[in-house]
Amino acid sequence: MTALYRKYRPQSFDDVVGQEAIVRTLRNAIEQDAVRQAYLFAGPRGTGKTSMARILAKALNCVGTEGPTPRPDKTCHACVAIANGTSLDVVEMDAASQRGIDDIREIRERVVLQPVEGRSKVYILDEAHQLTDAAWNALLKLIEEPPPHLLFVFCTTDLVKVIPTVRSRCQTFVFQRPRLSELVTLLRRVADGEGIETQDSALSLIARSARGSFRDAVSTLDQLAAATNGSVDAQAVLQLVGAVDEDSLLRLGDMVVDRDTAGALVFIEELAEQGQDLGRLVFDLLDHLRHLLLVQHMGH
Ligand SMILES: [Zn+2]
Repeated sequence: MTALYRKYRPQSFDDVVGQEAIVRTLRNAIEQDAVRQAYLFAGPRGTGKTSMARILAKALNCVGTEGPTPRPDKTCHACVAIANGTSLDVVEMDAASQRGIDDIREIRERVVLQPVEGRSKVYILDEAHQLTDAAWNALLKLIEEPPPHLLFVFCTTDLVKVIPTVRSRCQTFVFQRPRLSELVTLLRRVADGEGIETQDSALSLIARSARGSFRDAVSTLDQLAAATNGSVDAQAVLQLVGAVDEDSLLRLGDMVVDRDTAGALVFIEELAEQGQDLGRLVFDLLDHLRHLLLVQHMGH
């Protein structure tokens, strides 16, 4: 079974939710024939770095048009192969396991070959910060003077660990965690596509618990749908993610305002007895108080 997040990963620039600046810059570069040959995609896990790299690869190699296009058709054999991870011209490597000098040597030997069917050969290196220094050194010359058909996309969750000489030779994009409303939009897309019955309030709770990771949010939704026969309500979400429901947070907040220490302690004891994770309670309470502050000072 394909994981849902894979099934619903964006397939074109239009599908990408959030990351507007990155999409705009890449599209412009393609339109103006100014695509760079080394990119560094940095950002938290699950924010769509690899998906964006694949979309870029499609844009360069789509055979539905004469040349590179900011709107790859998603249907030609090149686009389909890239989406399925079977394209011979788009190579995805995981630097966590293929990080050594031998792997890089292999890249160096292979990159001089022309693309098999597309216009560009695209190497996507995940977790690039895990490459060894020797591996980077072997890559540097290639990044500096790449053959014309070659493009590197280095993806990393840890930008500061990428050595400065590499960073200075790549165009860097920093991927932001999606906003809550954007995650809810994405989750709604998945829920509707899979016939999962749910309300936005439940999706919002899932989104909040995923802390900005589309992948985590979708896998939570997937898990809940399986456990509830496709009908996911807020209560089910709260149970699974161990989050504290809004009413409890409001009640606790009131007790703090009233300086009702005894009441608060008793209530916390009750929550603990119900199996509530107290670390989670602290986190949710802080989040709740932050929202109250925002409402108080911003007026909405
Ligand atoms: Zn295509």
